[in-house]
Amino acid sequence: MTGSNPPLMLGSAVHHGVAGTRGFVVAPVRHLPTRVGPPAGGPHILIARDLTPADTAALDLTEIAAFCTSAGGPTSHAVQVAYSLGIPTVVAAGDGVLAVPEGQMCALDGGTGTLYAGLAGSGLDAATAYRDRALAQARVRAAGAGDVPVTLTGTITRASQAAELRAAGAHGIGLFATELLFLGREQDVADEEQHYRAYRAIARAVPDAPVTLRMLDIGGDKDMPALNLPREDNSFLGMRGLRLSLRRPDLFLPQLRAAYRAARDDGARFRLMFPMVTHVEEFTQAAQTAREVQAELAAPSLPLGVMVEVPACALAVDRFVEHVDFLSIGTNDLAQYLLATSRTNAALAHDIDPLHVAVTRTVRSVAKTGAANGVAVSACGGLAGDPVGAVVLASLGVTALTVAVPYLPDVRDALCRADASSLRTIRDHALDTGGSRHLRSLVTSLLGL
Ligand code: PEP
Ligand code: MG
Repeated sequence: MTGSNPPLMLGSAVHHGVAGTRGFVVAPVRHLPTRVGPPAGGPHILIARDLTPADTAALDLTEIAAFCTSAGGPTSHAVQVAYSLGIPTVVAAGDGVLAVPEGQMCALDGGTGTLYAGLAGSGLDAATAYRDRALAQARVRAAGAGDVPVTLTGTITRASQAAELRAAGAHGIGLFATELLFLGREQDVADEEQHYRAYRAIARAVPDAPVTLRMLDIGGDKDMPALNLPREDNSFLGMRGLRLSLRRPDLFLPQLRAAYRAARDDGARFRLMFPMVTHVEEFTQAAQTAREVQAELAAPSLPLGVMVEVPACALAVDRFVEHVDFLSIGTNDLAQYLLATSRTNAALAHDIDPLHVAVTRTVRSVAKTGAANGVAVSACGGLAGDPVGAVVLASLGVTALTVAVPYLPDVRDALCRADASSLRTIRDHALDTGGSRHLRSLVTSLLGL
């Protein structure tokens, strides 16, 4: 929540972790795996050692008010799933949280990365009052919309979120992570019909705006057990994203066919985006395959683009702009790879800094090259959904941001507070070596966040 600090919650045991997803929740805790005895019903804060993206995707999320993990990193894919659904999350909170008694009343602050355990009496009252104020403020911000200097698009993980997407005023979907539909399947991988049904559902739910389908991004911390992929020492540098798709036509072709069929049959305004691209030839090969599928199905042509998330792609982006229809900077992976800092290592959770000057300079250079060549450059990942991060990205020349629907109001509010002059000041500081803490406080005070 912007503008006020969490209250002193007297009597609580404070566990400091790392901010994963913003939001303030007061609820009893439950542990995963579930402890002895039937779990209490109702909304709860789920505590686990770590969560994989498949765990998060498989959980019944209707009663989960927040996540807290003792390990994990703030931009892990499990957190990205929580982020897209607006579930506040704290990671790397240490083993102490595993000992919080089942059912104990706690407050979780995803903005500061803190779990307040053992709330009772006046401490609990203070936490509840703070949460209610935060909700009221969020509603006020959601109601107001001003002039936004960049296009806001949403990221959703299921078609049922489309109505919220429209209500939040997003211009379509900037990232639909297709692999999340099928993660954790043990027995088989999705076939063409399953992809097709999923894409038709999205096309029908968002008929009037562009939908960017991110083609399968399996690998890294996203395992698909049915594929039986060999274990890797360094999976984030290994067989991931488009690298895997190009080697596995049995995965790639059904997905492409399903996307083009849905575009043909429903008039879907799909754009296809390829993840984990290093070499321009990977993109041209993927694009060639896509065009062959399109011709065979007599389907309309779809814009094809790449995620700029590998430093090699960012540094050689002047080669990519000759071939692609659009670029989208994946700030989570770009930060991980530029800083050589794992997204999933709790011990490094404080070091993975998406506002590091190496990241901001890279974003600036990609945005400039895109603009000079008439190729739109958007940004997605956690930084785009952080009000400060969104303003910094806009100052660096990114013209569209992809944000999880629950965080769109905050991002819109921050962007509405900026003008050309403040954006120039912010850009100069972002490209300077003053450090991200300084940059964050400058943006916060300049825009009154
Ligand atoms: C990113 O890397 O920033 C991104 C949006 O993709 P993901 O987090 O799914 O890797
Ligand atoms: Mg990525």
